[in-house]
Amino acid sequence: MQLETLMDTMSRQQVPEGALYVIGTPIGNICDISLRALTVLEVADVVACEDTRNTRSLLSAYGLSKPLLAAHQHNEREVAGQLTARLERGERIALVSDAGTPGISDPGARIVDSLREAGCHIVPIPGPSAAVAALSISGFTDNGFRFVGFLPIKHAQRLTFLRALQNTPETLVFYEAPHRIKEMLDSLSQVFGGDRRVMVGRELTKLFEETWRGTLSAVGEWISSDPNRTRGEFVILVEGVQVDEGQSGEDEAKRILSILLESMPVSGAVATAVKITGLKKNLLYNVALRLKA
Ligand code: SAM
Repeated sequence: MQLETLMDTMSRQQVPEGALYVIGTPIGNICDISLRALTVLEVADVVACEDTRNTRSLLSAYGLSKPLLAAHQHNEREVAGQLTARLERGERIALVSDAGTPGISDPGARIVDSLREAGCHIVPIPGPSAAVAALSISGFTDNGFRFVGFLPIKHAQRLTFLRALQNTPETLVFYEAPHRIKEMLDSLSQVFGGDRRVMVGRELTKLFEETWRGTLSAVGEWISSDPNRTRGEFVILVEGVQVDEGQSGEDEAKRILSILLESMPVSGAVATAVKITGLKKNLLYNVALRLKA
């Protein structure tokens, strides 16, 4: 699309009044903002934000200046009441956090929850998120992923929390602060074992962006080999448990079918097992016949 056509499309974007626009903003690179986000910010009556100083400087980078309303983790429910009243008056409200997508390890979810309960019109304006940025370059997304965010700070609690995730087949997505990164990686290795694959994304989209993929047994050495590697912002992805699908599916089929066959004919047991496991009918039928024999 030519630039002129794109500008034309942008000027024709619908930004209805009386709606809350939840806007993703850059996680480091000022250029990572969508044209639609800029369009909405330009016409917004007020911008609800995590930290007014950060958002003022973000808006000024785009030549914008707007009334701001602080909406942080300590006043979200209160602010929601004010926002509902403003929406009823027909205002357009933008909601942003300091970086990335509001509500993702950031304030925003409670406001959205309250406004939804109040029946308000809420519109997503998608943008960056460190989790999705890291996932997109990991090669770990075949089995889906589970967003964890920040782990408990205390060592014992962190280990307990991680143990509950030990057998998760989906890739796990963690955020961590730089001063805790080494300790956190140690905990991951302790619970998941050294062979599990990990990807670390550091300072994504920024000047000194770095990513590293390897095993948990090697990640400590990578982090320690350069003092800069304990600075900046980190996303850590741990690949999920790799199961041999064929084998685990068959084991599950055997377990479930042997229970069902005690009280059902083969056809009924197979039909029920399909519903329970989501496995293919053919596989279940063959297993059922073997069990019967
Ligand atoms: N709402 C944000 C999002 O959508 O990604 C996350 C906010 S959370 C308070 C901040 C954490 O996100 C950081 O401590 C870090 O773990 C991760 N993060 C944010 N920006 C990042 C970046 N550029 N590179 C790596 N990790 C980042």
